[in-house]
Amino acid sequence: MTEVINNRGRYWLNCHAIRKNMENNIIIGAGLVGSLHAVYLAKRGIKVEVYERRPDMRKTDISAGRSINLAISHRGLKALDRVGLKEKVLKMVIPMPGRMIHDMEGNTNFQPYGKEGQHINSVSRGGLNAMLMDEAEKLGVKIHFNQRCVTMNLEVGEATFKNESTGSITKVVADRLYGTDGAFSEVRHSMMLTERFDYSQSYLKHGYKELSIPAAENGGFRLEKNALHIWPRGGYMLIALPNLDGSFTVTLFLSFEGKYAFENLETEKQVLDFFNEIFPDVVPHMPTLIDDFFGNPTSSLVTVKCFPWRFKDKVIIFGDASHAIVPFYGQGMVSGFEDCYVFDQLADKFWDDKESLFEEFQNSRKPDADAIADLALRNFIEMRDSVANPKFLLRKQIEKAINAKHPDKWVPLYSMVTFSEMRYSEALTRGKQQDKIMEEILSWDAIEDNWENPAVFSKIEKVALG
Ligand SMILES: Cc1cc2nc3c(=O)[nH]c(=O)nc-3n(C[C@H](O)[C@H](O)[C@H](O)COP(=O)(O)OP(=O)(O)OC[C@H]3O[C@@H](n4cnc5c(N)ncnc54)[C@H](O)[C@@H]3O)c2cc1C
Repeated sequence: MTEVINNRGRYWLNCHAIRKNMENNIIIGAGLVGSLHAVYLAKRGIKVEVYERRPDMRKTDISAGRSINLAISHRGLKALDRVGLKEKVLKMVIPMPGRMIHDMEGNTNFQPYGKEGQHINSVSRGGLNAMLMDEAEKLGVKIHFNQRCVTMNLEVGEATFKNESTGSITKVVADRLYGTDGAFSEVRHSMMLTERFDYSQSYLKHGYKELSIPAAENGGFRLEKNALHIWPRGGYMLIALPNLDGSFTVTLFLSFEGKYAFENLETEKQVLDFFNEIFPDVVPHMPTLIDDFFGNPTSSLVTVKCFPWRFKDKVIIFGDASHAIVPFYGQGMVSGFEDCYVFDQLADKFWDDKESLFEEFQNSRKPDADAIADLALRNFIEMRDSVANPKFLLRKQIEKAINAKHPDKWVPLYSMVTFSEMRYSEALTRGKQQDKIMEEILSWDAIEDNWENPAVFSKIEKVALG
């Protein structure tokens, strides 16, 4: 290509390169998605500054109130891999190849998530976020802390920040503004004031509270280390994810109102009685139950959908700011990381035409964001209820057997979402088709006793694969 460029062409290319590097981009929100996006942009050689409401988490403890650890799976790792950070993150995780189900009697039952070698991973939210900030800074990104975005002028690309410690106001004008300021995004709020902006938010009747299981006295794990533990109890559940220091972060998902509900857990006795009755096997492992219960907030769970995600070629929102989902598929951060990945792929093609880049991004990504929002809501029912249901377990076994024989034709929904790169929207469509087929198969007489019989199994294959 260089050979056919004359001097004028070369001059243009040089100016273009300088302009590209001079382009002033700001990211609002240095959470998980904003920090990764900063790395992506910096790797393109773009000047990036990030404005974050909170103080620097690497110097101040700001963990209270947010999940301390979370699950990262294939799509998230793929997004990290594109900027060379996957291996670094894999050193920070505990693999979880399956769920450990705890029943009321304290019996446990391990259910693998996928095939041999497939697993999701528990990672520290703070550790991951801090590492991403470090990497962004190494690439020259400047992060301004204590800077809360309070308003935006979208037309001119101006954001106004209030310093959370001094109260001083700063206005910043940028060529491009990326809103990664989470589920209650101020950037999105400004966009909502423009014409024909669709927005919906819906809260679950359930909230959550974080509790903990400390490491054993010898520093080991009190429960199986390599598992996501679930105590499914129908309308509600307790889960626990391992941390590298031998502890577990435990989350109680419970209705705000009703018989078994946060509103009825107001005294120490009520909390102890509830845990002893419903989760008896875990209580001996939770010496700080009461302190955790009354010291930690009860938080709500929201799904946010909106559109458009861009304002002209100036402003675009990513991650929870454009699609906040409930946490039951472990795909909130992961889908935000995938936003960065998809955006970067499109940027290879459309970088010099931001209007098209933003348009392509929002149009291609929106159906997938809607799909994972729906899938996450469905998975709440699976986690709190179905995992303890014999029909569900039978379906898992049958699906596993079909998948083993026909790995290209039948992949269980959980695996499509968690271990593949298939678009979420396609996984949801296929999942719904599979639901219908499996419902039919599970309605056959005595299927639980004879599905492994070769004649029955070949009938199953016929129905399943069409
Ligand atoms: C209980 C729970 C468990 C979860 N578990 C998982 C899981 O296992 N796997 C998974 O993938 N996802 C999980 N998630 C979802 C995940 O936490 C979110 O999807 C993820 O944090 C979104 O990242 P984000 O950067 O878009 O937003 P956030 O992480 O919310 O970051 C937003 C950032 O913007 C800053 N900010 C906010 N407002 C402003 C402002 N006005 N000005 C400047 N800065 C601002 C905030 O301080 C924050 O740093 C879970 C969520 C919850 C609640």
